[in-house]
Amino acid sequence: MGGTPGMGFPLDLSWPGPAPPPPVAAPHPHPAPGPGPTLAWSPAVGTRVFGPRSPGAGERPCLPPLPLSPLSFLYTGFLSLRSENVLVLALGIIILGVCHYTLTVKGSHLATHGALTESKRWSRIWELFFVEVCSSFSAEYGKYGHVKMHHGYTNVLGLGDSSTWRLPCLNRYVYMFLAPLLIPVLTPLVAVERLRKVELRSAVRTLGLISLGLYAHYWLLLNVSGFGSPGSALLCMFTTRSLLAHPYLHINIFQHIGLPMFSRDKKPQRIHMMSLGVLNLPRLPVLEWAFGHSIVSCHVEHHLFPRLSDNMCLKVKPVVSRFLQEKRLPYNEDSYLARFRLFLSRYEEFMVQTPPITELVGLQ
Ligand SMILES: [Zn+2]
Repeated sequence: MGGTPGMGFPLDLSWPGPAPPPPVAAPHPHPAPGPGPTLAWSPAVGTRVFGPRSPGAGERPCLPPLPLSPLSFLYTGFLSLRSENVLVLALGIIILGVCHYTLTVKGSHLATHGALTESKRWSRIWELFFVEVCSSFSAEYGKYGHVKMHHGYTNVLGLGDSSTWRLPCLNRYVYMFLAPLLIPVLTPLVAVERLRKVELRSAVRTLGLISLGLYAHYWLLLNVSGFGSPGSALLCMFTTRSLLAHPYLHINIFQHIGLPMFSRDKKPQRIHMMSLGVLNLPRLPVLEWAFGHSIVSCHVEHHLFPRLSDNMCLKVKPVVSRFLQEKRLPYNEDSYLARFRLFLSRYEEFMVQTPPITELVGLQ
């Protein structure tokens, strides 16, 4: 999709990673009997995953394949849920889960920064689409919390200190293993709670777009995937929406918490703030596809240049690391596993107690 200069399509969510999935096979009016699953939608393979098949589903006409490959990828995910083959079902869940996080994390994050297009009008459209329709959150609060506070005051106590991710009432195992499952349920509830503080016009728009996104997902599961009951469709929604919730929560705490924190009246210069208070993880293919380089392996670069596109963050990475090393500034890097072990062993210190303030003598 769209990152090619001069194409005129105002969106860049491309990722130079794995090859795109094979295209959906064109449906045949009279499918030949034979072993093995097919990803083509046809009455012959229509089944359910979690519930009874809807009555009359086998009489529906074949749906035409979509021409755009990213949409075909999504379409393949919905169609796979019609299969009786467990492997095809699992593939469908994985495809839909990865697509969901690509739209909600990578898409919303870049759209919130205005990094998808230079057009202000399209920036606003993508922001509303990715944050409100896809992610069930308020675009205004997303921008305020992430761009203004988190980026403007990275690791400054009481402002951009990632404290929204702290839940001191939970123990380390509940937080690291169970709490992520609440993210898909809590996100729209938090958004609705915050609507009380915005003007009526924005609140009605946000509520309408969140409802549209949730209903569209539900409708696709009933009408394309062939789910026969609301309960089974809702269970599938929850499963795909929580597929990558664990790495999403973990990465959000790994990259700032446990690093130096600053006081608001003695915060260091921006270069020191980002160099000391941000950490990169290594390249992790599936997570980079779903969350973006700017959240996984290029978080330092993203904090230094928040309006750069995801691919540009990757390109400037060697220059940034060389520059920081030449200036004898930290360039924090650690593996997912090492960070996970560190947080489990020092959970109280990082996630429950108030972090100590780091004073940089001669640098403030
Ligand atoms: Zn950001």
